[in-house]
Amino acid sequence: MPGRGLASDSPIGVIGAGTMGSGIALVALSAWRPVVLVDPIESARARAQEYLHRHLSKPGKTAALDRLTLAADLEALSGCGLVIEAAPENLDLKRDLFRRLESICPPPALLATNTSTLSIGGIASATSTPERVGGLHFFNPAALMPLVEVAAGEQTSEATLATLVAVVKEFGKTPVVARDTPGFIVNRVARPFYGEALRLLAEGIATVDQIDRVVEMAGGFRMGPFRLMDLIGLDVNLAATRSIYEQTFGEPRYRPHPIQARLVEQGRLGRKSGAGFYNYSAGDPPLDREAPAGERGAGLLVLSEGTWASGIAEEMLRAGFTLHEAHGSAPVAGIVAAGTDERLREHVYRLDRALPPSVPLLVQAADATLSEIHTWCTHPERVIGFDGLFFVGSRAATLVAAERCSPEVRRAIEALMNTCGRRAEWIRDGAGLILPRLVAALVNEAAFALMEATADEPTIDLAMRLGANYPAGPLEWGRRLGWSRVVRVMDHLHAELGEDRYRAAPILRRWARGSP
Ligand code: NAD
Repeated sequence: MPGRGLASDSPIGVIGAGTMGSGIALVALSAWRPVVLVDPIESARARAQEYLHRHLSKPGKTAALDRLTLAADLEALSGCGLVIEAAPENLDLKRDLFRRLESICPPPALLATNTSTLSIGGIASATSTPERVGGLHFFNPAALMPLVEVAAGEQTSEATLATLVAVVKEFGKTPVVARDTPGFIVNRVARPFYGEALRLLAEGIATVDQIDRVVEMAGGFRMGPFRLMDLIGLDVNLAATRSIYEQTFGEPRYRPHPIQARLVEQGRLGRKSGAGFYNYSAGDPPLDREAPAGERGAGLLVLSEGTWASGIAEEMLRAGFTLHEAHGSAPVAGIVAAGTDERLREHVYRLDRALPPSVPLLVQAADATLSEIHTWCTHPERVIGFDGLFFVGSRAATLVAAERCSPEVRRAIEALMNTCGRRAEWIRDGAGLILPRLVAALVNEAAFALMEATADEPTIDLAMRLGANYPAGPLEWGRRLGWSRVVRVMDHLHAELGEDRYRAAPILRRWARGSP
């Protein structure tokens, strides 16, 4: 019967000796499992052998190599207790392989697929024993990435799932169980990270390296979206987006972007082809991540109460400024950050009238555009929008100014940012700036995934931290920002851009109202 667990000496079969198959074979060999690695292409087998030799010819590991069998035919897999398929991402091919596995590896052997985006049910139904078929979705590079998504098809038995989870643990990896939905957890929830970055670029809000810089320096992500797409391969990234889009019959949140499709058409696939969003012909492109250190702050800042509550005041104090809630004489600037739309409006209105027109006014513009804020002021030319939501702890400040904003005001605010140890990143005015838009869209996608029972809340967060290297789980992040804030950013994007992809997940709205 499937699911009694995998006998400790049972060999593991791997189909496909490409990027993922050879990585998975390395993981299984490192866990001292005998491995049968099958690939019909001789050069693929030779490459895999060289790769495995390179990684296992270290003291204490060489014996693992004796447990490796490389073969051209599927028949070599007979006797394997578990077969993990990592052949190309093609449903017909995978179905054909599983049909053939049926007799080569009869029950109780378990069959798993490493598919990124195809349905487990669609692959399993090629067999007459779908209960012993599940997904084991490793991440690239398989040997290094700590997460494996264990995907449960509708007919995958509990026992099969339990055994697959146990095998992942035996491999020294962290398993997360996901329902069989397009892109499972990580590939699905990560879509807006790329999609919103591409749209910000297309809308002319910011450049490729500005977006990467802000995402890394203010968002705490290890890699900005464009650097990451170049690393993954634009073709691989586009194929994942396209597959999820098609499987959801055109859900607008997953719509691929023409910028990426065009680069793929031109063969600009990222690092592997020498160019993608960046050019790698002369090695890694130099990316300027300097955050100029300014002088220690002096002078008075006039702050709105929201600025105190959001932690921004503490950063200003640390930078050496004197802070005041009310109108003071000749302040350096007034800063407005607030919890709700009405409060923001109220504070902008009050400070704009209280401070002399020459004093710059810095206003949080995460869920109101600069042009909207201008309509509340009598002196709009001294107003600069900033990303107040992601200011605390960041090394870059996202700033927007209108054309009529005076150079003195710009210089004063840039100096203020440098004093606080932040690089000033001037972008064009647009809904949600960079990070509020990107992070709110990630939180929203995670909320949809939760609502659709792809996985539970801690599982989604864990999967995104370990599978995508995010600095925080998106739902935990949303909780920290406040659900109502996330909904407001989404509603603002929806209103400004008029696209369905920005509709807030119903569950987010419920949480924002305080319902569980
Ligand atoms: P790849 O092209 O590097 O490797 C595929 C291998 O399968 C090749 O060596 C090819 O010779 C072999 N192959 C072709 N037909 C075969 C057959 N009939 N029987 C056995 N082997 C056959 O592809 P990859 O990137 O390793 O992807 C493999 C699977 O893993 C896909 O389903 C993909 O979606 C999934 N995946 C890929 C990544 C990634 O980042 N590359 C990450 C997670 C999952």
